[in-house]
Amino acid sequence: MSIETSIGLETGQPYPYRRIELVEPDWTRFPGWKDVTAEEWESVQWQRAHCVKNLKQLRELMGDLLDESFYADLEKDQAERATMSMLVPPQMMNTMAPRVEPSGPGSLTEAFYSDPVRRYMLPVLSDRRTDWPSHPHATRDSLHEHDMWVAEGLTHRYPTKVLAELLPTCPQYCGHCTRMDLVGNSTAVIDKLKFVGKPNDRLGAMLDYLRRTPQVRDVVVSGGDVANMPWPRLEAFLTDLLEIENIRDIRLATKALMGMPQHWLQAEVVEGMGRIGAISRSRGVSDDIHTHDNHANSVTPQV
Ligand code: SF4
Repeated sequence: MSIETSIGLETGQPYPYRRIELVEPDWTRFPGWKDVTAEEWESVQWQRAHCVKNLKQLRELMGDLLDESFYADLEKDQAERATMSMLVPPQMMNTMAPRVEPSGPGSLTEAFYSDPVRRYMLPVLSDRRTDWPSHPHATRDSLHEHDMWVAEGLTHRYPTKVLAELLPTCPQYCGHCTRMDLVGNSTAVIDKLKFVGKPNDRLGAMLDYLRRTPQVRDVVVSGGDVANMPWPRLEAFLTDLLEIENIRDIRLATKALMGMPQHWLQAEVVEGMGRIGAISRSRGVSDDIHTHDNHANSVTPQV
């Protein structure tokens, strides 16, 4: 429907938004998870232990529902182009081709090729443009975050805001990651940068910088993804941050809210967030979680 013809719909909106019922796709449609129970699915330990990290694990999960040509296309991309290593949590795998019923060998191949979540989480070589394989100005650290580190992992670009990269890992690795310089395991084409300092020393140096830099009021606490940091360590860092008078906004960056919601639903994390929220409120600090979600299919009831 063109914009012209849709204007004039009852809503007056140029695009006819429609509410669709959110349904958790049935994970037992994938052969490797045919016996997985709801209890296992909702366990973050089970989710972390069953991430797809390589071609062998993808084959074990999908079997012959995908053609050999798909696996070969993926393998070629891993060898020649991928800037991120493979890491797909079950929750995200299950949002690929969510409405296509498997019906024998190769029956999910076409749906996988065209799936929007698959395209960025499991890119294959034939997805890439061969005439223009990368943006001409693309660089490893295209946002120049590393150039602006004032302590290892702490980027101070704008006067009142900083980005704190607490750790270099995530529960999921996205093919488009703009932090591919640092985040994840090295791939065939990218040797990742490694933090040099010990985690506690790095976090201490970040807090010291913020204590002596009163113009900073807004801290994006990121990574990687904070969902990969053991909760007690993250809570301790946030509590220390909340004691710094000039810090007025704290934003926790986590794609796991969508990629592995089971993490954020753990009792330890829910209770800890409650404690952080209470301190924030008592000090008049705004604390938020921010996330990113590439496609509506990722928003399931679990999320
Ligand atoms: S979750 Fe964010 S930081 Fe992690 S790989 Fe994806 S885009 Fe990069």
